[in-house]
Amino acid sequence: MATRLARASGRTVAAYDERVDGRRDRFRLVARLRQALGEGALRTHFQPVVGIEDRHLHSVEALVRWTDDELGVVAPDELVAAAEAARLIDDVGAVVIDQALGQLAAWDAAGRVVHRAAVNVSPWQLRGRKLESALEASSTWHGIGLDRLTIELTESAVADLDDVGTRVLHRLRDRGVLVAIDDFGTGHSSLARLRELPVDVVKLDRSFVTDLPGPVASALVTAFVGVASALGLRTVAEGIETEDQWSELRRIGCIDGQGYLFGRPAPGGDVLVP
Ligand code: C2E
Ligand code: MG
Ligand code: MG
Repeated sequence: MATRLARASGRTVAAYDERVDGRRDRFRLVARLRQALGEGALRTHFQPVVGIEDRHLHSVEALVRWTDDELGVVAPDELVAAAEAARLIDDVGAVVIDQALGQLAAWDAAGRVVHRAAVNVSPWQLRGRKLESALEASSTWHGIGLDRLTIELTESAVADLDDVGTRVLHRLRDRGVLVAIDDFGTGHSSLARLRELPVDVVKLDRSFVTDLPGPVASALVTAFVGVASALGLRTVAEGIETEDQWSELRRIGCIDGQGYLFGRPAPGGDVLVP
């Protein structure tokens, strides 16, 4: 009906049609996600984080993966947005945390050295106690201390932290959890503001790395690394794909790096661990 009207009367109804379709798709996505959570169908992949200087893996970032029987591969961004809207993000987060700490325990048991895992955390997960309960439960179950975990929050999430979220972050840091700002440079906070935030690590967004080496990008990254190190923060460059980008980051003095050059996200068993 809407499509027929759209054909007759133009774009407004077509837009309405798209919104209805969009809502129906989201409804289906959420229903499938609920089922996937119930069946334990979400998987976590791990991407190496290496020292820029020696290119040795010392930690990993945990990234959620979902291939649904009906929907096919669902992109993490889409999954996370749907989970946030449907208030399922705590459950998704708990799965990723559990698989990440479980993987650290598996590597430990195999005599492989991976010091720490980073998990991405949505700002919604800082609104109550569920994140802390999930961390405690998985830490106890797998026998992995929380001082081996980093939580990554985007720049805007950290900038918008309310009192409750700030208290959660401080309690987690008291337990040894490190806090990283993800995708830094894409939001609105300034380098100076970093000083006031409860953070330990800054991850420089891929968009800056893509243009390396180049006069403007190199100047920006140099300034960024300089200020971050003056503030005592560890810097990670994201999205390193080429040897040239790597050598420029090394020249600049960035500490850690992550990107397809060193390894793509993969199931824990497929990650090449020292
Ligand atoms: P992110 O945390 O910034 O993760 C890095 C993204 O960049 C990942 O995309 C990774 O696969 C991709 N990447 C890594 N190296 C390269 C590279 O060299 N080149 C290019 N082009 N891309 C690279 P992915 O896995 O699709 O995840 C997208 C975003 O979804 C993540 O961005 C994160 O914000 C979110 N996300 C993923 N897993 C979770 C999760 O468990 N919880 C939450 N809340 N968010 C998650
Ligand atoms: Mg991240
Ligand atoms: Mg990032």
